[in-house]
Amino acid sequence: MVAAEVVVIGAGIAGLCVARVLHEAGKEVRVVARELGEASRVPEALLNPVRGKRGSVAPEAEEALAALWDFYPRFVPVRQGILRPVPPAHRPAWKEKLKGRGIPHQWLEEGLYLESAGWLETTPLLHRLAQGLEITYAEVERLEGRTLHLRTPTLATLSAGLVIYAGGASGAHLVGLGGRFTPGSVLHTLEHFPQACAYGVYVAGHSLGGSYLPHQSSYTPHQTQPAEVEWLLAEAEKLLGYRPRWDTSWAGVRYRLDRHYLRPIPGGYALTGFGSAAYFYAPLYAHRLLQQIN
Ligand SMILES: Cc1cc2nc3c(=O)[nH]c(=O)nc-3n(C[C@H](O)[C@H](O)[C@H](O)COP(=O)(O)OP(=O)(O)OC[C@H]3O[C@@H](n4cnc5c(N)ncnc54)[C@H](O)[C@@H]3O)c2cc1C
Repeated sequence: MVAAEVVVIGAGIAGLCVARVLHEAGKEVRVVARELGEASRVPEALLNPVRGKRGSVAPEAEEALAALWDFYPRFVPVRQGILRPVPPAHRPAWKEKLKGRGIPHQWLEEGLYLESAGWLETTPLLHRLAQGLEITYAEVERLEGRTLHLRTPTLATLSAGLVIYAGGASGAHLVGLGGRFTPGSVLHTLEHFPQACAYGVYVAGHSLGGSYLPHQSSYTPHQTQPAEVEWLLAEAEKLLGYRPRWDTSWAGVRYRLDRHYLRPIPGGYALTGFGSAAYFYAPLYAHRLLQQIN
């Protein structure tokens, strides 16, 4: 049975962005996923072009920013701006990295203000992107070229004209691309932070997030550890001057494939491995995939 012209495995931000872009371009698309999002259910996602404590400007940041501002505001509000409270001693090195790049920014007394960066709440976005798409909720047990073997009460197979793997960390074994898996957690804070602020850890909305745990070579589900909570609160104290009160936590695993976010696989393409920049790059790479298959 041919299921659809294109079958997308995964309904996280990578799968839903690409499914949406292809659907809007008139392709017949079916998404197959266990559930709506997984690591993409990180409660609030930063859209941050200047990364880490070293201030590395993300590759293709200008293109990624243009693509995401063209795309997300059609579905949900995107809050504009991220403050990076870079210590004065590190500012010259950051300024050097921003030189010649097209990233709108201002240096304030408090640090670097990135006006074209932002953040959004993920759950409403995932639901809005999914609206009107054909989604089959099932576990893919095995992928053989363009044939998906589904784990249903009776094992079903599904064939596609083209397969796009966007199954993130937990599905990575289906395509065997290697990569690094990094667990991390986000605390739900009682206080609401309308201004996103990031250095070491980040606060945005009701989130205090970050990760310091070592990479792993395969996927293992993660649960927030007491040591992580202590680390997040200690880092938040450096950022804010106090420890925010919190009630619940969210835990997830980032999957990183060093810049090869879009690559051919037997039967189609893999669109995955964005690490902690999935929401930042997904619209750009979804459009690139459309260009490739047109
Ligand atoms: C602490 C922390 C903070 C983060 N902060 C940010 C941030 O600020 N900004 C940002 O952009 N990113 C952030 N991330 C990263 C982000 O959470 C994820 O990396 C990203 O959303 C992954 O998206 P994805 O679509 O590739 O995969 P996922 O969201 O993991 O989706 C995978 C999809 O594939 C499906 N699937 C997998 N295996 C199978 C199978 N066998 N059969 C059927 N379906 C399957 C799942 O059901 C799901 O629908 C953070 C991560 C962590 C841990």
